[in-house]
Amino acid sequence: MTRVAFLGLGAIGRPMARHLAPPAFDLRVWNRTSSKAASFALETGAVAAATPREAAAGASVVITCFATSHDVEDVIGGADGLLDAMGAGTVLVDCTSGDPATSRRIAERLAARSVDFLDAPVSGGVAGAERAKLTVMCGGAAETLERVRPVLSSFGSTIVHCGAVGAGDALKSVNNAMLAVHLWSLAEGLAALTKAGVEPKVALDVINASSGRSNASQNLFPERVLSRAFPRTFRLALLDKDVGIAAGVARDHKVASPMLQLAAELFRVAHAELGEDADHVESVKLVERWAGVEIA
Ligand code: NDP
Repeated sequence: MTRVAFLGLGAIGRPMARHLAPPAFDLRVWNRTSSKAASFALETGAVAAATPREAAAGASVVITCFATSHDVEDVIGGADGLLDAMGAGTVLVDCTSGDPATSRRIAERLAARSVDFLDAPVSGGVAGAERAKLTVMCGGAAETLERVRPVLSSFGSTIVHCGAVGAGDALKSVNNAMLAVHLWSLAEGLAALTKAGVEPKVALDVINASSGRSNASQNLFPERVLSRAFPRTFRLALLDKDVGIAAGVARDHKVASPMLQLAAELFRVAHAELGEDADHVESVKLVERWAGVEIA
């Protein structure tokens, strides 16, 4: 049975790794907070490793899913790191929503040991991960993607080769910047309509039958804002990171991008105001606070 290692059992990593557990693959997992790996192993029959190195030993595919690319860099080197455990011809697939420059640096470091690298961020949320319906956007050699496609297919239903290393990260950041802009602009619009005497539910029903509809209007606002449920599935801190990456990609390529830069600034402020544990949809609460109205 192919041995696979999965490192990073956070909100999305855990349901992704679930699909790789025996009998699908000989799965080893590692998580910085070791109790999460231990409970996952008990639940699934995977083996919990004590270090990244132990998890990667003997694996032909190693998957990481941390908060940032810098966290990935942290677990590569050092005595307990991944690098020494990964042999020539093995592949590191990084499902972190990372930044392209760091991914390119990681890929170069691995290439010196004949280890292949793909940046492979995902979209579809925790619900998509649970249903194995994620979109996986890959940067790196197309041939490397074909080698690991059977593994990625365990949790992804749309797996796309986007270009060279960093292309997946760049595309993912722009996708999430769109999510951020939709969330924020819809919050402003609904706050204004509420004050103008239009019921938010009526406004959403009309928008969802019209050209302004989005995932925010069709799913996030009806399920999470109008209900005031605000479940915590994707931290605002992570969306702040993603919009910042998108704004950086635009700046690096000298693209005039006032909208992306403003979105990055707004989500930086929202993250600072609402804290590390807030969900991304809770950014709406800041718009409500500034407007002095609740969208309910
Ligand atoms: P969480 O914050 O829930 O989990 C982060 C994971 O990274 C945890 O396992 C954490 O370990 C680990 N980690 C953080 N820093 C380090 C470090 N320095 N060294 C080792 N491990 C570290 O994040 P998510 O699971 O939500 O997100 C993971 C990635 O996936 C992010 O890049 C995010 O942007 C992206 N993503 C998330 C989605 C979602 O809906 N949640 C959707 C699509 C993409 P510990 O348990 O010890 O804290």
